[in-house]
Amino acid sequence: MKISIIGVGSVGSAVATAVKNTGLVHEMVLYDRDGVRARAAAEDLGHATVFGFDVKISAVSNYRGIRGSDIVIISAGANQKPGETRTDLLQNNAEVIRDIVPQVMENVDAKNVILILVTNPLDVMVMLAREISKLPTSRVIGTGTMLDTARLRTILSRGLSVSPQSIHSYVLGEHGDSSVIDWSSVTVGGLSLDDFCRQTKVPMTDATRETIEYRVRNAAYEIIRGRGATWDGIGAAVSDLLRCIINDERRILTVSVVDGVGSHTLAMSLPRIVGRGGVITTLIPKMSSAELAALRRSARIIQKNFSML
Ligand code: NAD
Repeated sequence: MKISIIGVGSVGSAVATAVKNTGLVHEMVLYDRDGVRARAAAEDLGHATVFGFDVKISAVSNYRGIRGSDIVIISAGANQKPGETRTDLLQNNAEVIRDIVPQVMENVDAKNVILILVTNPLDVMVMLAREISKLPTSRVIGTGTMLDTARLRTILSRGLSVSPQSIHSYVLGEHGDSSVIDWSSVTVGGLSLDDFCRQTKVPMTDATRETIEYRVRNAAYEIIRGRGATWDGIGAAVSDLLRCIINDERRILTVSVVDGVGSHTLAMSLPRIVGRGGVITTLIPKMSSAELAALRRSARIIQKNFSML
């Protein structure tokens, strides 16, 4: 299994480290328009392989070096500066995707390759990459709200004093400020959230839910204020998505792919079964009418942003 990572800044490096530690790939190629940075990352990571799985890691100076890749991860482009939203990155990062995707497509097998998008604003970048690559929608996959969902599960886990592994809950819609928590589908150990809270005597008021929503949506802003960027969470999320694809695990992940949503075609996150061929099936979540209205609003925001390109 050969993978390539395009863009080896904070996120690309964290992805490379997390993927290396899974032992699932035998070859990893790093490309960045800043060749010095890519070579330094490959060198540093190469030393780390002595203490773990034996992965061949190299930096390449042009796209011919990615030939033979089964999966290409795109994590290049500007990140949010303190106070910036993901949408503020729209025009700059659209140029980055327009630069990268044609060069990737010239050097991969279009019949099999899977593109994984990380660059923000994520959903719009998935739509753009899909349009340029002309790959089937199932093989142009954005990490979507995987990270937001992880944040929700972490916060719930701390509040409920139960492992996040026992909590099923999803953040849906845009990977951005309009994301939607699907409270209607939360289960803990098979119980609805309300049942679980009643049995364990944990208070779960509307105000508690509002605080949790605020913390999930603002987690990235807080981290960026504190350490300049976010990388560990997304590195682990990409590595988890890769594992699900490579091992054909068919787990349900909230990834973003271009899909028909009502009468519209756009990319946003919904629960989807993911396996070796990419996204296999999209599930229609159980939602209240208010949650559904919020999801529709989120979809409209993504479409409006795409129309501005
Ligand atoms: P960074 O500035 O640390 O790294 C970006 C890298 O991209 C740089 O090394 C730069 O040289 C490279 N690059 C830029 N344009 C390029 C091009 N045309 N071709 C090749 N390389 C190019 O930024 P970062 O913190 O690593 O963030 C990268 C992206 O990931 C941002 O858009 C950020 O918002 C996004 N991100 C997404 C999520 C998510 O959940 N999807 C989470 C965190 C960050």
